Amino acid sequence: MDHSFLRLHQFLPKSRANGPGLRAVLWVQGCSLGCAGCFNPQTHAFEGGELVSIDSLMTQLVALQDSIEGLTLSGGEPLQQRLPLLKLLRRVRQETHLTTLLLSGFTWAEIQQMPEAAELLAYLDVLIAGRYEAGQHLARDLRGSANKTVHFLTPRYNLSDLQAAPAAEVIITTTGEVLVSGIDPPRWTR
Ligand code: SF4
Repeated sequence: MDHSFLRLHQFLPKSRANGPGLRAVLWVQGCSLGCAGCFNPQTHAFEGGELVSIDSLMTQLVALQDSIEGLTLSGGEPLQQRLPLLKLLRRVRQETHLTTLLLSGFTWAEIQQMPEAAELLAYLDVLIAGRYEAGQHLARDLRGSANKTVHFLTPRYNLSDLQAAPAAEVIITTTGEVLVSGIDPPRWTR
């Protein structure tokens, strides 16, 4: 299998509601963890989204790095594409000064069992881990539910940095697409 491509749901070059400061956000496509009440079911299918090369993602991130603070990886489940993800994170560390934040549905204990855990954790500043539990819905510190755990893996951030991020944002792209994101986005009905 070619690990030079990530299956991507969406890439947002600038966001304020997905981590500290202004950040690029990459939502991967594909997740089999099946949390009841998942807020992003359109990211579940592994055959959906678009295959995007690590090279082209790096070109975008390097071009953006002077205008943003970091990169947030979400999904879908980023750790179900671990090898291309590692390739991307390795290059982000080597070629940019961006901070890195990963949101995963796997628990901290499950991540520790992954053969790539040590390398993966070495490339992250913050990891938020654990399934979404609708009965423990929280929408604080970038955690969707209270059971999720937050791990600061370098001194670059602390809890108040996560709490400073707005719970939601609405972005209108240059093509007129309306994107709603964040840990507690508004749910509009009509
Ligand atoms: S891990 Fe995330 S994307 Fe996957 S089902 Fe749970 S909440 Fe949804």
